[in-house]
Amino acid sequence: MSRKDADAHVKVHELFDEAARRLRPFLSYPATRKQVRRAFRQSDVEGLFAKTVDGSIASIAEDYFETDILQGMLASEGIISSMAGPRTPGTAYIALHHAFGQATGHDGAWGFVRGGMGAITSALADIVRAQGGEIRIEAEVAELRLDERRRAAGVVLASGEEIEASIVCSNATAQCTVAFVGADHLPPDFVDDIELLPTEGTVVKVNCALSGLPKFKGFGSEGEIGPEHTGTITVSPSIDYLEDACRRAAEGHPADNFFCEAWIQTATEPELAPEGKHTLSIFAQYVPYSFAEGTWDERRDVVGDAVVATLETYAPGLSDLIEDRLVLGPPDLEARFGLTGGNIFHGELLPDWLFDKRPSRGWHRHRWPLPGLYLCGSAAHPGGGVCGAPGRNAARSVLEDLVAAGAGMPS
Ligand SMILES: Cc1cc2nc3c(=O)[nH]c(=O)nc-3n(C[C@H](O)[C@H](O)[C@H](O)COP(=O)(O)OP(=O)(O)OC[C@H]3O[C@@H](n4cnc5c(N)ncnc54)[C@H](O)[C@@H]3O)c2cc1C
Repeated sequence: MSRKDADAHVKVHELFDEAARRLRPFLSYPATRKQVRRAFRQSDVEGLFAKTVDGSIASIAEDYFETDILQGMLASEGIISSMAGPRTPGTAYIALHHAFGQATGHDGAWGFVRGGMGAITSALADIVRAQGGEIRIEAEVAELRLDERRRAAGVVLASGEEIEASIVCSNATAQCTVAFVGADHLPPDFVDDIELLPTEGTVVKVNCALSGLPKFKGFGSEGEIGPEHTGTITVSPSIDYLEDACRRAAEGHPADNFFCEAWIQTATEPELAPEGKHTLSIFAQYVPYSFAEGTWDERRDVVGDAVVATLETYAPGLSDLIEDRLVLGPPDLEARFGLTGGNIFHGELLPDWLFDKRPSRGWHRHRWPLPGLYLCGSAAHPGGGVCGAPGRNAARSVLEDLVAAGAGMPS
């Protein structure tokens, strides 16, 4: 790395901090693109919107950094879950989307959830139950019930059980929601636009149970937890490396060399595994949803091996530590979590599908063109990530409609 890049590292963070500061007020408001652009224009940073929303992450990386490794590192933040490579316009927004968080009160920070991700849903469930709510799991919705005025009237479960409700909020993907409503009950333009929201996943997740702590080249001593274990481990050596991986997947092949982000959760929370053992989860790109040759069932293990081999280049002996592992490609994420196409964000986070275009042009206010039905998941504004914003926005639309209908605010 160079002195220039060390200084640029601070400057690039200032750029994204400034953009995130402009964007944040619109996360909890159904903003249009014009409104967001106007707010960005008020910044002293010239061309802030063009750079950090419409621009490519590669052009920012090349403007600021001179070394491949820092260009690759920044570029990787703009490709998360996308079919696009880092040179594609709009990928800067994906990086910005990942910079608006304020975990533990720090701008742009991410965090590990103590107890694992399930701790968040458990905490939310506790709040719902404390307010007298009931949560049903393993209850697949097959169909939306309509009343005689074509208003939402509840749901029919796959088991055949019917649940009455005058308000239905769906955090399933937009495409799944269309399916259980029935496209015939929705305006054709609305449905067409939702079909255009790209949902083909490009992520493969490899979750590993390790017999010991991996040792990384050039770091620390055997078995001792060091800084290389406690943060995000990123393999993204250059912009071209990412572009090559993207091109391979577009042609129906897994990457030859994967972009990887990995975490060893037990380095900061040892209680998650038996003493001396560790967890390692690897998030890798790019893979196709369907291979040019073969199926995921035939090739899942080969892809898993290739992802581990990429990381093993930097952590020799890693594969010997793996006692068990789970490989989830896009069709697996789709089957397990109902993610259409296996897209982790319920659809691309590129500017063509943001703000007043998410999930369908002009329908960004979380209401659907069917009274009583709301979208409260990642396909709604402002999009995916564990941020809670689509749900909060949808709840506010529900409250506005209840008040407008004279029902008053629930106590
Ligand atoms: C591998 C992976 C890694 C990720 N990494 C990160 C990360 O590091 N940081 C981050 O912030 N975000 C990350 N995300 C994204 C994050 O998990 C999502 O953005 C978030 O969970 C979205 O919440 P949601 O409520 O919108 O939708 P989801 O969590 O997708 O929930 C939708 C729910 O709807 C259910 N459902 C679907 N259809 C039906 C039906 N017919 N009937 C009943 N239920 C149905 C599904 O089972 C699911 O439980 C990741 C996602 C994945 C898959």
